[in-house]
Amino acid sequence: MRDLYEILGVSKGASQDEIKKAYRKLARKYHPDKNPGDTEAEERFKEVQGAYDLLSDPAKRKQYDQLGSRVFSGAGGPRGGNYQWSGNVGDLGDLGDLSDLFGGLFDNFGAGRRTTSTRSSRRGERGRDVEVVVNLSFEDALKGVTMKIPVELETTCSVCKGTGAEPGTSPKICPECRGRGVISESQGLFALSTPCPRCGGNGTVIEQPCRNCQGTGRERRTKRYTVKIPAGVKDGTQIRLKGKGEAGHGGGPHGDLIVTTRVTPSPLFRRRGADLVIDVPVTYAEAALGATVEVPTPDGGRISLKVPPGSQDGKLLKVKGRGAPKLNGGGKGDLLARLRVVVPTKLTKAEREALENLQKVSREDPREKVFS
Ligand SMILES: [Zn+2]
Ligand SMILES: [Zn+2]
Repeated sequence: MRDLYEILGVSKGASQDEIKKAYRKLARKYHPDKNPGDTEAEERFKEVQGAYDLLSDPAKRKQYDQLGSRVFSGAGGPRGGNYQWSGNVGDLGDLGDLSDLFGGLFDNFGAGRRTTSTRSSRRGERGRDVEVVVNLSFEDALKGVTMKIPVELETTCSVCKGTGAEPGTSPKICPECRGRGVISESQGLFALSTPCPRCGGNGTVIEQPCRNCQGTGRERRTKRYTVKIPAGVKDGTQIRLKGKGEAGHGGGPHGDLIVTTRVTPSPLFRRRGADLVIDVPVTYAEAALGATVEVPTPDGGRISLKVPPGSQDGKLLKVKGRGAPKLNGGGKGDLLARLRVVVPTKLTKAEREALENLQKVSREDPREKVFS
């Protein structure tokens, strides 16, 4: 919690005159009329106004000097507008939220504009994020695809445009709190503020609620978004579309839409990051003698792969740049061909004879090195 003297830029021992001068200077500087649309200035203006209201009243100032730092907790700080009283302080009881107090004090100044501006700073809550899952084929995930995705979400009412009032009517200033959104009560030397029960702090009430949204200003609707799924997404990739989620409350920003991709596995290729692994069956003779074999590529084509003589089962051969597109930074991963030496289960007579001859002339015992 920033010190009230600090807010006005005066010392603790400042005279009432000095406090007044400091206040006038700052109030002029941060006045909303001089800073239209500047919420930072508006917050500062409220701070200054609130600080002056307390310190210009000798009785309140005395109480603040005695209790000040103990009554206010440090959470947030005035710049964030997040004033917190630290719960029960003796007979002062539950003091509520100082920003309400300041919001109320602010009302002493310019009237009209305030209703909407404090409303947005107090209630400007971001809309929820919405998550959807899309199913993609393995090929589409590699190529990228543009698709229409229906998303059911809560958004601004299309009939009243979010005001909650029936078209042709408009929300009225709340008669209970006269548009301030808070009710002030005198407790001891402090004026305490609580959110107005009639308008819930909005400062406005709706006399004729919109029939489409029953006055909430919001409706559930299925929106169709056209989403570009980039080439190279994986199973479980998340794409965040800023501002495509649910509408915010009280002028707050929209949430985001998060699209999670579910990719059907390929019978041939396995993802390993941006690399794709494919098993390539070869015969004993091809592995031993070397060969050129045809291998399918993920784009549906084929390439010739050179199997070097003496290749072992499980050997990985790299084909550069023929893998999946990289999501960040461009380029492609590699295609990794894993050799699988297959052994025939049935032999023709000729094959059997050839293999028996091979066995007779073979000089290598594969167990010799391993078991010795
Ligand atoms: Zn409506
Ligand atoms: Zn009210």
